[in-house]
Amino acid sequence: MASPPLFVRDRLRLIEAAGLLRRPPTIETQDGVRGRVNGKSALLFCSNDYLGLRLDPAIRRAAASAAEQYGGGSGSSRLIAGSLAIHDRLEEAVARWLGTETALVCSSGYQANLALVQGLCQSGDLILSDGLNHASLIDGCRLSRARVVVMDHGSPGSATLSPAGDAGQVFRLGEGLYSMDGDRGPVEAWVGAAAAEGSETSHVLVDEAHALGVFGPEGQGVCAERGVANAVLARVGTFGKAVGAHGAFIACSAATRELLVNTGRTYIFTTGLPPAAAGAALAGIEVVSSERGDELRATLQARASQLRSGLSALGFEVVGDADAPIVPVLIGPANEAMKLYSSLLDRGIYAMAIRPPTVPDGTCRLRFTVSAAHSEVDVDAALSALSEL
Ligand code: PMP
Repeated sequence: MASPPLFVRDRLRLIEAAGLLRRPPTIETQDGVRGRVNGKSALLFCSNDYLGLRLDPAIRRAAASAAEQYGGGSGSSRLIAGSLAIHDRLEEAVARWLGTETALVCSSGYQANLALVQGLCQSGDLILSDGLNHASLIDGCRLSRARVVVMDHGSPGSATLSPAGDAGQVFRLGEGLYSMDGDRGPVEAWVGAAAAEGSETSHVLVDEAHALGVFGPEGQGVCAERGVANAVLARVGTFGKAVGAHGAFIACSAATRELLVNTGRTYIFTTGLPPAAAGAALAGIEVVSSERGDELRATLQARASQLRSGLSALGFEVVGDADAPIVPVLIGPANEAMKLYSSLLDRGIYAMAIRPPTVPDGTCRLRFTVSAAHSEVDVDAALSALSEL
């Protein structure tokens, strides 16, 4: 192996000097929401496993049995020989759950967003992209070669933002629930603005990664909650968060799916979702869309509001929607956020500090995520640790 050239060490030093070096801690063991992190026992408050399903015995068994039946991997990209019967079953289950004509299963949410944006938008089109969109949506915009206008967060924007006013297709691109701010995207405003511009040329694409399983009837997400699901061209959802598995989908019409199968590079040029992940996702959807899912969502909301109101009472600046399980505490400078993160970990509470490039400069935060698996006592323990700081 060649020794690392100077530029590697120089660039690392620059990142470190800015207080932005990341060394992801290992979760060494985990039992429910308690784990060992860097040799310390801690209550975990930063997983996206909102309903606590990732370690559910039924989901683990479904993963094992799918691997037993279909193998360790898919063996090839889905367009060659990697489309397995379990992928078809998963796409049917997603479409039934969300009430769409069909769905396209991808190997991760990152890849689904790239396939969606790059596969649908092209040179000559205009993308109105929300200012707080996830990196995968931003990278999809970059790959698409469309003109991209970054909108102030929450603004519906206008097709007239195209310089000559002569864009081909217009796409509004946003999220159901914003992952670092814990607020809903204004899906009704996006849909209303697109309808006013004309449904043949103006479209809405929504990434429901953090809303799925959490909001809406049967956990169908924010578009369903707000009654605009049928007006959205495509919705992305991930299996790696509330569903407790791994992988992702694009829920859409059969024609849109067919276009993406032929154009979405991160769908075309990657090995199909591993069978174990597909099996786990099938079992996860069954729970999420059931009565038990409703009960888990009620518990989740109760814990989220307990944490949110407790933090506000302690004088912390908390942002986001009152019922969101993402509870960001604004700190400001990166070094202060890191200090708070490590003092909390010393007290047995694990909540990750979020720094640029994930969030804008000067808006570093401690991002708590609550799970239905947290008890009232767990949330009280986090509040009590914070009250000592
Ligand atoms: N969209 C959003 C909003 C996300 O937060 C994430 C990942 N955290 C993704 C997409 C990517 O999903 P995945 O982890 O399945 O790649």
